Amino acid sequence: MQPEYYYVTQQTDKTNNYLLHRAGCVTLPGKETLTFIGSLYNAVQALTVAQMRVGKNVKACYHCCSPHNDARQQPKKMQYRHHSDN
Ligand SMILES: [Zn+2]
Repeated sequence: MQPEYYYVTQQTDKTNNYLLHRAGCVTLPGKETLTFIGSLYNAVQALTVAQMRVGKNVKACYHCCSPHNDARQQPKKMQYRHHSDN
């Protein structure tokens, strides 16, 4: 399993939250508006690191990171994705 690069925004959004992104996110803002937080193995870990950097008000991006709070409540109808070695 490869670590991935995670970033957190330097500015809060309109709900006063920083946003956690993974490298390659379709909604990733310009690098100059982001703080690189590290190479991490999953979004939960990244969220923890981001919170140590900027405080508790960090939200995982909907597009690139699994929502931290909903991770245990995925409906059973969700299709599993099989990842191949790419
Ligand atoms: Zn994102």
